[in-house]
Amino acid sequence: MLEQVELLKGLTESEAKRRLEKYGPNTLEKKASISPLKIFLAQFNDFITWVLIVATVISGYMGEKADAITILVIVVMNAILGFIQEYKTERSLDALKKMAAPTTKVIRNGRLKVINAENVVLGDLLVLESGDRIPADCIIVTSSNVLVDESLLTGESTGVIKSTAKEENNIYMGTIMLKGRVEAKVVKTGMDTEMGKIANMLQNIEREKSPLKEKLNFLGKIMVVGCIVICFIVTILGIMRGNDIMDMFLLGVSLAVAAIPEGLTAIVTVALALGVSRMLKRNALVRKLPAVETLGCTSVICSDKTGTLTENKMTVKKLYFNDRIISANDKKELKIFEKDNMLKKIFTICSDCSFDFTEKNFEKALFGDPTETALIRAFFKENKDLQNFITSFNKAYDIPFDSERKMMTVISRERGKEVCLVKGAPERVLEKCTKIYVNGSIEPMTQLWKKRILRNIELMSDNALRCIAAAYKEIGIVHNKNVESNLIFVGAAGIIDPPRREVKDAVMRCKSAGIKVVMITGDHKNTAYAIGKDLDICTSKEQVITGEELDRLSDSELSAKIEGLRIFARVNPEHKLRIVKNFKKNMEIVAMTGDGVNDAPAIKEADIGIAMGIAGTDVTKESASMILLDDNFATIVAAVEEGRVIYGNIRKFIRYLLSCNLGEVLTMFLASLMYLQTPLIAIQILFVNLATDGLPAIALGVDPPEDDTMIEEPRPKNEHIFARGLTEKILIRGSLIGICTVLSYLVGLNFGFSLDSCRTIALSTLVLSQLIHVFECKSEKKPLFRINIFSNMYLVGAVTTSVLMLLTVIYVPTFQQIFHTVALGGKQWLIILFFSWIISLINTIYMQFGKSRN
Ligand code: ATP
Repeated sequence: MLEQVELLKGLTESEAKRRLEKYGPNTLEKKASISPLKIFLAQFNDFITWVLIVATVISGYMGEKADAITILVIVVMNAILGFIQEYKTERSLDALKKMAAPTTKVIRNGRLKVINAENVVLGDLLVLESGDRIPADCIIVTSSNVLVDESLLTGESTGVIKSTAKEENNIYMGTIMLKGRVEAKVVKTGMDTEMGKIANMLQNIEREKSPLKEKLNFLGKIMVVGCIVICFIVTILGIMRGNDIMDMFLLGVSLAVAAIPEGLTAIVTVALALGVSRMLKRNALVRKLPAVETLGCTSVICSDKTGTLTENKMTVKKLYFNDRIISANDKKELKIFEKDNMLKKIFTICSDCSFDFTEKNFEKALFGDPTETALIRAFFKENKDLQNFITSFNKAYDIPFDSERKMMTVISRERGKEVCLVKGAPERVLEKCTKIYVNGSIEPMTQLWKKRILRNIELMSDNALRCIAAAYKEIGIVHNKNVESNLIFVGAAGIIDPPRREVKDAVMRCKSAGIKVVMITGDHKNTAYAIGKDLDICTSKEQVITGEELDRLSDSELSAKIEGLRIFARVNPEHKLRIVKNFKKNMEIVAMTGDGVNDAPAIKEADIGIAMGIAGTDVTKESASMILLDDNFATIVAAVEEGRVIYGNIRKFIRYLLSCNLGEVLTMFLASLMYLQTPLIAIQILFVNLATDGLPAIALGVDPPEDDTMIEEPRPKNEHIFARGLTEKILIRGSLIGICTVLSYLVGLNFGFSLDSCRTIALSTLVLSQLIHVFECKSEKKPLFRINIFSNMYLVGAVTTSVLMLLTVIYVPTFQQIFHTVALGGKQWLIILFFSWIISLINTIYMQFGKSRN
């Protein structure tokens, strides 16, 4: 029933601000976050790096001071790069945690507003509803049918009844409103609360282990062993060839440092975290980092209708009264409600809307559930009229609306008697009616009447209208709570809730990406079908099933049928869990949206649980892996697309890093098998590592989407990161880089250039062939000349930097001394360019040839 919130004004904003300053924020003490220094030092927390540092110090001590200092500088620069990546990731995750912070409804300056739970202060008046997590210890001021889950505090899983009665009026921080609605005054905040006394709350973004990172960690370990074996062989063969032992040892260790892809897992985190902030810009807040990986595999999106596929902007279009459907815009027709206001009374009084009498603008004065505000707006256009109307009624008791019963009841006290007013889904209300109110008199509800009413309701739902029926009965003062029976049917309203404009396009994108879109709604079958058809979610009525029909199917029948279904109508939240489970049985990767507290189990069960940012309750948000800040279906599709892009980018830099590292190791290995002088010395290997591994690999992590991102079928969830030919690509390209570098070195030797000159040729060939390859890694299907290399300016910048570094090392005298390089002439550059480009050329011809064969 309409409430006059001005009676309960709450604190003023200025008083709240004063108290916040005085008592501090309503938070539990946090664990200190990791300090930047710790992150920096962690970069050295790696065995091989320490071996290199020790070896360098010894060699420096024994003579090669400049070499030793340079190696140490390179090691520190690498650590700085690693630090920047990790620090940025930490920072963006911190920012996300703040975004995901819980909010609460509070009355300040007499108005209802949503604030961050940490800004709640002593004395604040909170409005809490089912699904809300209670943000502070409070005392209930007004209540209706409240059930609270206190399991977090007591371990007791059954709900506890709460009310304004003295022994039941305490509610505590961290516990959950399961049912009902209260207005409650805050008595304790932050560490003073019961919760503060006990422990920390689990409300942070969870930094769960990413399955991808785990797999890569495992792979990393294998590679470490492989690299160490090869480095060992290279060192021994070098010593056997008569090289200085210390030089060879340093070379072996440097090669290990360069070849072991220690940055791999760090870059995966960076790519995921950067992806998460990109998703945030598109209104999808990811709560669990690994969800980004799973998002890209999504094969079914189960979406709520109201608010997600539709705008949740409700307007009453038709009214069914006295066995006639009338237009809600027709002022002449509406005159009837001035004389006979039964329908108007039920829809206005049986409501949870609030009304601010001080607000002049009628649109703004009324707030609450959009269905209910729409119903009231159908009958009233001005504050004054509504105010006059509602003051003659008094709410004595109510049973709030819930999606399971799909009904709501208010008992109104008027002129010494009590009247039970009911509104809800037409079939549900009709079931409870034994009489009908027509043209001012009451008649028995015959079968004929029922048929007529249902036909009219169907007529409205076929036109995508969401229907709500109204009924009532007069009762004595002493009523029992089971009043919803023997009701008198009065009429119904047909409400339009237009589909969101961007949804149709998003559904089409899903279709082309092999993703099924499924609508789940509490609404009538016909309404759901009409909207589903409009949005291209379904094409025939066979694709629609109701909750009742669902109940009649066994699990095996359902899982056989479910792939063909696109709309689940008149379902309860419990049905959602069954739907998720049966899709999963068919090996689908399911994304499922939800808002109410009852949706939480289904959201947890789904591969990607999605909560609504605006309409969602705290409990659903906490069980979800992603929150839609704008409640919009199109945002889910954008997030799936981002998920695919991020996974693709991870594959890109894995391909790049591993083939380059393989190239480096093979260069040294082949040369030592051929019993040649080492083509690169330790310091040069470290330079290659610095110039090619750091910036270009990170830049690949933010590569923009390819055109075919949303054209391919979703990848299977358990697909290995190296699937679809990535291993071969890495092995072939890595080997070619190694072979071509050694060849460039051999050609140089054959031309009779000095050893330093030949080493500079090998160094340049190795660096350039990697920098060319980084652009090829932008696409798995296109040859280099068909790739738009300028689509990622970070990459262009990173590669330019690396080329400049190479030129500096070759041509600046000081660096020549440090890196043992020499300035190269035209002939030498011809060799370098030939051997660094030939691989791409062969690759392009191969890809074109392969394509023409298909
Ligand atoms: P979705 O699951 O897509 O959000 P929905 O919002 O239409 O669907 P519910 O809110 O469960 O699902 O509503 C189901 C039915 O209950 C509606 O079709 C309507 O008939 C009735 N209904 C909705 N809101 C109210 C209300 N506030 N009071 C009474 N009946 C309502």
